[in-house]
Amino acid sequence: MKPKYSYDLNFVNLAIGKHEFNYQVDTSLFETQGSTDFNEVNCSVLVYLNKQERLMSFDFEIDGNIKTICDRCGEELQIDLSVENNLVVRFAEESDFTDDEVIFLKENDTSIDLGQFMYEYIIVGVPTRVVHEEGKCDPAVLRYLEEVSEEEEEKKDNELDPRWEALKKFKN
Ligand SMILES: [Zn+2]
Repeated sequence: MKPKYSYDLNFVNLAIGKHEFNYQVDTSLFETQGSTDFNEVNCSVLVYLNKQERLMSFDFEIDGNIKTICDRCGEELQIDLSVENNLVVRFAEESDFTDDEVIFLKENDTSIDLGQFMYEYIIVGVPTRVVHEEGKCDPAVLRYLEEVSEEEEEKKDNELDPRWEALKKFKN
């Protein structure tokens, strides 16, 4: 499956200096990357590129929202996102070190897929635990969860310690 929008940036014909690009990210990019974490993704991405002879610096400004599942009640939840990231691309035939912030392209590469970076930045921008604001969770689900935990408490209370059972037999 292909994303709805193309994130391939052909940089080879761009002049040295500053450039600005605008992208839309929707759920199709996430599906392409194999992620089913979010029900819906709706972000706009501004990319500021500073192109130099041997190096390109990209500043990403991601704004929008995603829809996912609340960790408390399991109902859908929308999260607003505002993420900024910088990516540095260097040209080298061989890279002798790796760095999270710097990636290497071959001298004869002509384009770069920015989609995978946008995808990563959005994933990292979402908190690990996502819940509705206090009082906004589905009340029916919360009531159910409460009942289940009460039942479990009762079950524990009713289960007798096996040592007591043994003692009772001994007494009789
Ligand atoms: Zn909730």
